[in-house]
Amino acid sequence: MPSIKKTCRRPWMTERKPQEGRKHSNTKFYQSTAWRKLRAVKLEQQPLCEECLSKGIHTPAKVADHIVPINRGGAALNIENLQSLCDRCHNIKSAKEGHAR
Ligand SMILES: [Zn+2]
Repeated sequence: MPSIKKTCRRPWMTERKPQEGRKHSNTKFYQSTAWRKLRAVKLEQQPLCEECLSKGIHTPAKVADHIVPINRGGAALNIENLQSLCDRCHNIKSAKEGHAR
């Protein structure tokens, strides 16, 4: 395990919150209650895929996606950084970002 020495000085990110601020294991984050709640709120506010909507297509959204990915410094728990996407659009976006799953 290489240790990361730079960019560790973040006084607002303390050891008390292990689920937040971890950039390497997003799985934990996606299992957190905070995320599940926010995701549910987002999909309730916007139940249609926003990507499809912009093309005039109404598709039910399945995923609340981070507009700026967490691993690129996007806010993980800010609803402003979320967009509702259908599976298809989410896959396309993930593929573009190089981390399809
Ligand atoms: Zn879509």
